[in-house]
Amino acid sequence: MSDALEPARLRVAPSPTGDPHVGTAYMSLFNLAYARKTGGQFVLRIEDTDRARYAADSEAQIFETLRWLELPWDEGPDIGGPYAPYRQSERLDTYRPFVEKLIEDGHAYFCWCSSERLSELRRQQQESKQAVTGYDRLCYGKTWEERARLPGFSENPVVRMFIPDQVELTFTDVIRGSVNAPRPDDQVILKADGFPTYHLAVVVDDHLMGITHVVRGEEWISSTPKHILLYKWLGFTPPAFAHMPLLRNPDKSKISKRKNPAARLTWFREQGYLPQALRNFLQLLAYPPADGDQEIVSFEEFAADFSWNKVNTVGPIFDLAKLNWLNGQYIRSLSPDDLAQQLVAYLSTYGTWVNAPSDSDIERVRQATPLIQERITLLSDAWPLIEFLFTPDDDLVIGEDARAQLKDGYREVLVAAISALEAVDDFTAESIHASLNEALVAQMGIKPRLAFGPVRVALTGLRVSPPLFESMEILSKVSTLARLRKLAAS
Ligand code: GLU
Repeated sequence: MSDALEPARLRVAPSPTGDPHVGTAYMSLFNLAYARKTGGQFVLRIEDTDRARYAADSEAQIFETLRWLELPWDEGPDIGGPYAPYRQSERLDTYRPFVEKLIEDGHAYFCWCSSERLSELRRQQQESKQAVTGYDRLCYGKTWEERARLPGFSENPVVRMFIPDQVELTFTDVIRGSVNAPRPDDQVILKADGFPTYHLAVVVDDHLMGITHVVRGEEWISSTPKHILLYKWLGFTPPAFAHMPLLRNPDKSKISKRKNPAARLTWFREQGYLPQALRNFLQLLAYPPADGDQEIVSFEEFAADFSWNKVNTVGPIFDLAKLNWLNGQYIRSLSPDDLAQQLVAYLSTYGTWVNAPSDSDIERVRQATPLIQERITLLSDAWPLIEFLFTPDDDLVIGEDARAQLKDGYREVLVAAISALEAVDDFTAESIHASLNEALVAQMGIKPRLAFGPVRVALTGLRVSPPLFESMEILSKVSTLARLRKLAAS
């Protein structure tokens, strides 16, 4: 048996700095797939050590969106686990002894340089276009007293790594093979506020939590040599690293929350994407199917068949047209009742029903769903098509474009439709169709399109609507007649 099939422990480690990024879902998907494939665990850890960028509601949004996406974690801040706590801000005491050890062993040192001095240093380096940039080690080897006599001193020191001249810059990546990274700077590992930086915390936590595979975005490749040094100095065995390609906009730029609404995970939910379609889309992004393979693949199949070899290292383009196509496919593959349930949940979350929908609203969505299942791409497409079924007859507004379509003589058509329908007792789509056909097409000799146009406008207020006779059946005879009479009289 190969190593790869040992039960693996993986984690996603988002920083709660705002709306969750789509990258968090993307990493979670691949982490979880490998955990499932090997029968291991998937851990959610909140990396909240950057207090300046911390956003209080972000953590709850991370939980909620990952849950909505059905990417469950086995251990995490909300459910606990054998390595709790899983929130880095609650682990400060855990990190401290490791920092002390690094200082004692000469691998780390205090730095009292003020932020003004560091910005000035950076400015000078940029101006003189020096080859060597980064911290100039003014504080290295100095005591507090020695350093305090020099300018640009700040009372609260940070702790920096002392990067040796000889440092291994090549590492093996599970996806990319041998990877070269640039030489690191003397990275800060403990900040003046007593919080560790990401670099120290990630290494300590991944080690203590028994993480076997660190799967993260390719933007972390340049940090990996620092992490490997920390592993070595602390006497830990490094995990395997897999750096996933970054998601890109169609213009190849890195996908960012500033530039692209689709970088926000909550956006997909607001738009009415189904979680299974978004998961499938994210799967395809870095994991293109071989020629002739299915593109529609459930998460379970994806996980069962998962292999790092298949991950593409070229930054995948985030193509919403593809996602829309997938969403349409998933919408059509649901049973009408399941789709109705999704619609009710969507409409209750996104404003249509501020108060919970009534039982009759839910029942009506269930009846209307088969009429629109073939016609919608997003859950949000549904309401404009079915709203007329929920509008009181007197409040129905006839759209300008629908009204413009009415031909001379439409009142006559409506009057004939009314008397035909008044005589229909069994008010089903089939009987309605037969009776209108007889009255308008056979007896009045009007072409079907022209005959049913005014009826549609009266009933729905729309130019294009879900199937007409089925809609009438759902609305009931009373409502149907009231609507026809109202337009006939206007
Ligand atoms: N906290 C880091 C982030 O937000 C995690 C990177 C990693 O997975 O090591 O991207």
